[in-house]
Amino acid sequence: MKPDQLLRPAPAGLYCPAGDFYIDPVRPVARALVTHGHSDHARAGHGAVLATQETLDIMEIRYGVDFCGTRQSAAFGERIEVNGVTVSFHPAGHVLGSAQIAVEKDGLRIVASGDYKRGVDPTCAAYEPVPCDIFITEATFGLPVFHHPDPKAEMGKLITSLRQFPERSHLVGAYSLGKSQRVIRLLRDCGYDAPVYIHGSLARLCDYYVSRGIELGDLRPATVEKGDKTDFRGAVIVGPPSAFADRWARRFNEPLIAFASGWMMVRQRAKQGGVELPLVISDHCDWPELTETIRELAPQEVWVTHGREEALVRWCELAGLPARPLHLVGYEDEGD
Ligand SMILES: [Zn+2]
Repeated sequence: MKPDQLLRPAPAGLYCPAGDFYIDPVRPVARALVTHGHSDHARAGHGAVLATQETLDIMEIRYGVDFCGTRQSAAFGERIEVNGVTVSFHPAGHVLGSAQIAVEKDGLRIVASGDYKRGVDPTCAAYEPVPCDIFITEATFGLPVFHHPDPKAEMGKLITSLRQFPERSHLVGAYSLGKSQRVIRLLRDCGYDAPVYIHGSLARLCDYYVSRGIELGDLRPATVEKGDKTDFRGAVIVGPPSAFADRWARRFNEPLIAFASGWMMVRQRAKQGGVELPLVISDHCDWPELTETIRELAPQEVWVTHGREEALVRWCELAGLPARPLHLVGYEDEGD
């Protein structure tokens, strides 16, 4: 079997000609395999969707019960036949339910990582290396300058700020799926046990995480209609970054804006967003994690997608590994 008979880039996404299905298609298709619930990977309107139970549940929460025609859940490690091609899902460590997808036929195995990270994250199953002939890696932070610090140390900065500015409401921007829950969990793991106030758009996903056994502590709605803004003095309020640009954010007492994202390593991004307290917390591999993963898997070939493709391709070539960029379009991760 030639690799491009098993997976190849196509306008709708990564396509498997042998099994007639797509992985994370960016437009509606008859049969989709979905790695995780972020909106650029998981879209509504497909005929049939195969994904982990958590990803299916998250898609239903976000898009409604009619998000696809038929659905099938895949347990981690379970081998499933799709039109004569064997597929299996394996933990990616990115967000709850996130998976790498292994696709194999006639002795050739390709693993599509989706988005993944190697660091500790108690809100999802840890990444598992899956031996393969061809590894498709993301490259969101695929430049040698990207080294993500210890997330607990980053969270320590927020705890310190809360002590230094006990009057100010600390508004933490975090994307609604994955990052918000991870930020809240990190706060708890750093010993913060006061109530955490959440923007309404996070409520259902936070409830879902809790229903899957991820402890988030005392969460309360960040509604100020009835009370007055001094109610939130010294409180932590978590919301999507978009909410901080509108009137909602100005209701809080002397708001201090923090933002949790891998991109907060780039000072210019923090400045542009008016972020007073950047927290470098990423749900993607940084450069050392990308290169260590490729070394560890030692595939025969590497295909690079989602982000800084060229630098990682070059690194692979220098390491003696054939590599190529996939140039897939339509992926702007919402959960960096
Ligand atoms: Zn993602």
